[in-house]
Amino acid sequence: MPIYIDRAVDLGCHEGYPGHHVYNALLERTFVDEKGWMEMSVYPLYSPMSFIAEGSANYGIDLAFPGEERVRFEREVLYPLAGLDPATAEAQAELLGLMRGLQRAEYTIASDYLAGRIDRDTALDQLQAYSLVARDRAEQRLSFIERYRSYVINYGLGRDMVQAWIESQLGDRWEVTEQLLSSQTLPTDLSR
Ligand SMILES: [Zn+2]
Repeated sequence: MPIYIDRAVDLGCHEGYPGHHVYNALLERTFVDEKGWMEMSVYPLYSPMSFIAEGSANYGIDLAFPGEERVRFEREVLYPLAGLDPATAEAQAELLGLMRGLQRAEYTIASDYLAGRIDRDTALDQLQAYSLVARDRAEQRLSFIERYRSYVINYGLGRDMVQAWIESQLGDRWEVTEQLLSSQTLPTDLSR
C-alpha cells in the first residue's frame, strides 16, 4: 500500500534515530560489550522489552521533532520534495493529532476479536468506524492483530507510558531517554 507523507518522519525516527536502532545499539553496548551478558545480544520480540522498544521509538518522534518543528520540517522540506502543496501541511498535522486520540479504540476491538467476542467482519467494521480508516487499511490492521495479537498495545500505550515516565523525571529529556534505552526497565517500572 502507498504510504502517506507523515510516515517519512515517523519511520526515520521510529526505526532509526532515536528509535529502535539506538535502543539496540545501547543495549548491546551496555550489556553485551561492557558487562559480557551474551544473552542480551538476543532480542525476544514477544517480551516486555518490546513495550519499551515500541513505546520509546514512537516517543522518539516527538523527542526529535517537538512542538511545531515537525510540521515546519514537513512543510519546508518534505512536501516540496514529494511534490505536495505545503499549504496543506498544517491541516494534515492537525488531523493526525486528532486521530492519535482514536488509537486506543483498536485495543478494545483487538481484544474483543482475539477473545472471540466479535467476528472478523464486525472487527473490520469497527476498525473503520472507530479508527477512521478505509477498508483496505482496516484489513491490514486486522492481519497485524491476528499475527501479533496483544503486541498492538506496545505502540500507543507504550508511547503514552514512556512519555509520561520520561517527562516526570528530572533532567534533559534526551539524557533521560538514553538512560531508559541503556537499562533493563520493564513496563511495570514505568508506572511507579
Ligand atoms: Zn517498531
